[in-house]
Amino acid sequence: MLALVTGASRGIGRAIALELAHNGYDVAINYNRSKESAESLCEEIKSLGVNAKIFQADVSIQEEAARLFSEIKSSMGSVSVLVNNAGITRDNLLMRMKPEDWLAVINSNLNSAFYCTREAIRDMAKAKYGRIINIASVVGLTGNAGQSNYAASKAGIIGFTKSAAREYASRGITANAVAPGFIETSMTEVLKPEVKENILKSIPVGAIGRPEDVAKAVMFFADERNGYITGQVLAVDGGMTMC
Ligand code: NAP
Repeated sequence: MLALVTGASRGIGRAIALELAHNGYDVAINYNRSKESAESLCEEIKSLGVNAKIFQADVSIQEEAARLFSEIKSSMGSVSVLVNNAGITRDNLLMRMKPEDWLAVINSNLNSAFYCTREAIRDMAKAKYGRIINIASVVGLTGNAGQSNYAASKAGIIGFTKSAAREYASRGITANAVAPGFIETSMTEVLKPEVKENILKSIPVGAIGRPEDVAKAVMFFADERNGYITGQVLAVDGGMTMC
C-alpha cells in the first residue's frame, strides 16, 4: 500500500514517513525546498525494504498539488494513505500581522490539505478504501496569542477533517486529525528559552514531545484495522490541553 506524506523532508513529516515505512508501506515523500534531506530520507526508507521516491511540489499551490499526484500515480500508483503534514508559521500579534503572512499560512496549512485530499479521494473512492490523516495542532483547539493565522488554519483543518469524514465514511475512507502540542522540530527551535520554559510548565508529562510521538498516532489512524474510527482529533501533547 502506498502512503503520501506532504512536507516529509524534515521534522514530524520525516518521522511519519519512517513510521509508515517500518509498518510496510511504500512512501511517496513530498518536499518543497529541502531536497537533500528528502533524498537521505528516501535512502533510509528504501533500506527498510519498501519502495520510496521523492517528489518536489509546493502543495500550497493547487496546480503543484495536481502535478504531484499525477507524478506519483505514474511512477508509484494510487495513494491509499494521505498524510497532510506540510505546514509553516508566520507568527505576529494580529494588529501587526501582514495580510501576506495570513495568506501564506492559510495556503500552506489549510488550502494544501484541500488540494491534496481532493486529488487523493477520487482513487480512494474507486478503491472503496482510504486513510486521510491531517496534522492539526492543539492551537487549533485553544487559540494562541500571536498565532491567529496559524490557529485559524489548524481550526480550519479540524472542520475540514470532520466534513471529509462525514462525506466519505460510507466508502471505506476515514479522515482523522492529529493535534500535536509542543514538539521538538525546527518549527519550535526558534522559540526563546524562556518561552520554552513556560510552555514546559504547562505540560503535565513534563517533557517536550518528539516527532516520533506524533508519528505513532498517525500510524494508528493509518492502520487498515482502524476503519471504525473517523472524524476524530487526537491530541499528542503530554496532557497540555485535555479538551
Ligand atoms: P518543520 O520542521 O518546519 O517542517 C515543515 C515541513 O513542511 C518541511 O518538510 C517543509 O518542506 C514542509 N513544507 C512547508 N511548506 C510546504 C509546502 N508549501 N509544500 C510542501 N512542503 C512544505 O515543521 P514540523 O514541526 O515538522 O511541522 C509539521 C506539521 O506539524 C505542520 O503542519 C505543523 O503545523 C504541525 N505541528 C507542529 C508542531 C510542533 O511543535 N513542531 C505542533 C503542532 C503542529 P521543505 O523543508 O522541503 O520546504
